[in-house]
Amino acid sequence: MADVIEMTNFIHDIIDHDLETKKYGDREILTRFPPEPNGYLHIGHAKSICLNFMTAQKYHGACNLRYDDTNPVKEEVEYIDSIEADVRWLGFQWKERLWASDYFDEMYECAVTLIKKGKAFVCDFNAEQIRENRGTLTEAGKESPYRNRSVEENLRLFEEMREGKYADGEKVLRAKIDMASPNINMRDPVIYRIAHVAHHNTGNKWCIYPMYDFAHPIEDAIEGITHSICTLEFEDHRPLYDWVLREVGKWPAPPQQIEFARLNITNTVMSKRYLKALVDEGAVEGWDDPRMPTIAGIRRRGYTPEAVRDFCERIGVAKANSTVDVAQLEACVRDDLKLRVENRNVVENPIKVIITNYPEDRTEEMAIENNREVPEMGDRMVPFSRELWVDGDDFMEVPARKYFRLFPGNEVRFKGAYFLTCNEVIKNDSGEIVELHCTYDPDTRSGTEGANRKVKGTIHWVDAKTAEKIRIRNYDYLMIENDETGENELNPDSLVESRGYAEPLLGQAQPGERFQFFRKGYYICDELSSEEEKVFNKIVGLKSSFKVKK
Ligand code: ATP
Ligand code: MG
Repeated sequence: MADVIEMTNFIHDIIDHDLETKKYGDREILTRFPPEPNGYLHIGHAKSICLNFMTAQKYHGACNLRYDDTNPVKEEVEYIDSIEADVRWLGFQWKERLWASDYFDEMYECAVTLIKKGKAFVCDFNAEQIRENRGTLTEAGKESPYRNRSVEENLRLFEEMREGKYADGEKVLRAKIDMASPNINMRDPVIYRIAHVAHHNTGNKWCIYPMYDFAHPIEDAIEGITHSICTLEFEDHRPLYDWVLREVGKWPAPPQQIEFARLNITNTVMSKRYLKALVDEGAVEGWDDPRMPTIAGIRRRGYTPEAVRDFCERIGVAKANSTVDVAQLEACVRDDLKLRVENRNVVENPIKVIITNYPEDRTEEMAIENNREVPEMGDRMVPFSRELWVDGDDFMEVPARKYFRLFPGNEVRFKGAYFLTCNEVIKNDSGEIVELHCTYDPDTRSGTEGANRKVKGTIHWVDAKTAEKIRIRNYDYLMIENDETGENELNPDSLVESRGYAEPLLGQAQPGERFQFFRKGYYICDELSSEEEKVFNKIVGLKSSFKVKK
């Protein structure tokens, strides 16, 4: 289990109060995470998972994983496996794994209870008629002509609905509440509908299925959930949630629904349906494409569970909807990796450097620190010889203002090695740069007195003879925000692949290992890697690319 962090928020204030007043007696604080198994979880779900599990941890209670499968859709084993892997990856363990469909019998009994109390009736209106009679925010609805059927008739008709006597949509069971309620959810809402569809769990046993607003409070109550945390769009449904539990009347201390603002992040679309479309259309490589905001995607991207939990903590729990800058998530990732991963030298768009005054047959092993901020992480030995690669960004034939890296006539420090001066740029017949001829100053070896001389630029390098060729997948946001419409659209440049040269040690990297490519960013070795070629995903750059909007 994840570390318990002493967080507090308005939800915890409610729980504190409930504990003080002994609302739930000696029962443990029990929360639940209730995904519908119809897709992969995304970072928004991670927020809900962290909130539910961490709240349970804080109060030494527990959290259930409950599949909300009251909709008769085909079970996708792939989704269920992914959901469980994701919750575990985030560092949490559920108390029980449950299925809402296991409660169908009990839900049916609850509906019968309501009918017997005169609190539910069978209505012959179709969906359109119900909508037409529902009224508006300013106008009361009209009572259904079927509203005053006798208890006996309702019991018989509901039983016939269950037996399959009626077609889909022919009849529904509605709660009898108040067609004049200012809350439209309370205007005799439908609580059971007919659907002649097999269910993955109950097969053909049922052809009537409970509606979410009726099923969910009963699921919570059966399990003994104390606090049912959900997102803000259910705030207006809370009176119905409470009504169902009160009228069914089986539970002396029913659960308390508490709403919080759902997580929105800039440049990120969080909707299972939308994400599924991206996968189905082939716009991304799969649910775990490193650009996807799915938990599987950010895991493959190289984000850590610690960073995701930290992010969920830092943004807190709000009562009003807002959008969090994606840069905040990236900052958490950077903060987490900064002190954990080792540096490696990698160059992209490589340019060959020949040190004309360095012996041809010599190789020196240079000790280079693995992580400047964590001396205990020690040094690694990196070979250095006459031919090196430098990064394309670290050379300019005609230097821009304030450019202190390599250019003709300039001397720079090759990190962990020597000072080099660029003397000559060698080009091919088409005018492309093929080599830089440099000289090194033998008195400036790193760690010696001579290396203390001041020089403005420091760059990194890779020894050409022992270089490891790698594939780098550089990611940008999958979505860009269109300033005019405020809508998100796909970023055509969300993946730019490049090849690079790496110091030899990186040839031993295993999938899942993370590094800082010195001066470039954080990268993770991807599962696409083979013995022949290692593939790295860019996790996040070194500095925030966050720009304040003008
Ligand atoms: P989506 O709209 O993305 O398909 P959903 O809400 O339909 O998501 P569920 O499987 O029903 O997905 O959600 C499981 C739980 O996760 C619910 O309690 C829901 O409130 C919560 N959740 C979903 N999206 C977010 C979000 N963006 N922020 C916080 N909680 C979320
Ligand atoms: Mg849903």
